[in-house]
Amino acid sequence: MSTTYSSLQQVLHEDPVFGQLSFDGHEQIIFCNDKDTGLKAIIGIHNTVLGPALGGTRMWNYENEWAALNDVLRLSRGMTYKSAITGLNLGGGKAVIIGDAKTQKTPELMRKFGEFVHSLSGKYITAEDVGMATEDMDTVREVTPYVTGISQDKGGAGNPSPITAYGVFMGMKAAAKFKYGSDILEDKRIYVEGIGNVGENLVEYLTQEGADVVIADLNQDRLEQVRDKYGATIYGGDDLYGEQMDIYAPCALGATINDSTIHRIQADIIAGAANNQLANEQKHGAELMKRGIVYAPDFLINAGGIINVYAELEGYDRSEIMRKTENIFTTTVEILNRAKENNVTTYQAAFEIAKARIDARRSELAAI
Ligand code: NAD
Repeated sequence: MSTTYSSLQQVLHEDPVFGQLSFDGHEQIIFCNDKDTGLKAIIGIHNTVLGPALGGTRMWNYENEWAALNDVLRLSRGMTYKSAITGLNLGGGKAVIIGDAKTQKTPELMRKFGEFVHSLSGKYITAEDVGMATEDMDTVREVTPYVTGISQDKGGAGNPSPITAYGVFMGMKAAAKFKYGSDILEDKRIYVEGIGNVGENLVEYLTQEGADVVIADLNQDRLEQVRDKYGATIYGGDDLYGEQMDIYAPCALGATINDSTIHRIQADIIAGAANNQLANEQKHGAELMKRGIVYAPDFLINAGGIINVYAELEGYDRSEIMRKTENIFTTTVEILNRAKENNVTTYQAAFEIAKARIDARRSELAAI
């Protein structure tokens, strides 16, 4: 037994959970297992200083459990800083369900997952992410109140993706203003990678503004639908990152800016919805800065969805949601300018502001 464990350690070079590279002082990590429904999930609670940890549930056919754990650790951490920089009184959390959302997601599995969420008594509040739909959150709502993103006819704010897309559009415009002196995206060549819930809505905003939009996705049917609906061009090449473009909008999964892609990227601006776009925030953030590519930090510009679900908790109306989401433009311009003035990466500039807010609240709480 000990031989097996130590050889496993040699392979991994790290302790199983707290020693993971992505572990960042997370408060709690919950492994959920249910034999009857086949549920295997991990809930990551990164930080609850500003409030309950709110973040969506992703269902994905992970290559292995390490990949799932790594994802939930990175995603929950990102949520902490996203809510902090957006001025919401929420902490950061996220959940992943291991499996194929198309074939393995059942109402029983979702209800069982909801029971695990409920057992945390509100410390973690869930919502939808990749592989989840509003109806799935409605199912979770049957067993716990600690869920957002439920249908409007059930008292929720509905699918957050259109609002997320609007926020990304605002962040992209802000980056254009910073780079080109104008926020007008007409005629800009923009590659949208991933045209799911958020990507499609983003394509709608961009084509309405007259941008030259190129779309890429693994799903061919979807590509054709979105092309026909908005007049976008389907990408036909085999090196998207190396293509000449003005703006690259990553809207699929994270870490597409990594050691193998970063040197090929030709864009002036990177602004998209995907969480954790930089495989390594420090290293790849610095590389983009060196190459003069403006990176609009993902956790800053994709906050529309969290604003939308937060509205469910606070009772905001639609106009307040849109106002707060529109504000992403101003915050992004401020952060990009601040990064330039202080000669730091845009990721670092955004991160420092978010962290300062959490530290201030932590001091307040300690003084009580
Ligand atoms: P989605 O599942 O609806 O869409 C993802 C799309 O990406 C799918 O069409 C999928 O086929 C495609 N895709 C997956 N891998 C790909 C690849 N290698 N190349 C090209 N396409 C690929 O998800 P979504 O809700 O649109 O979210 C997209 C991203 O935005 C995710 O990273 C998510 O975490 C992030 N995000 C979403 C929200 C939201 O409100 N939905 C909020 C904040 C962040």
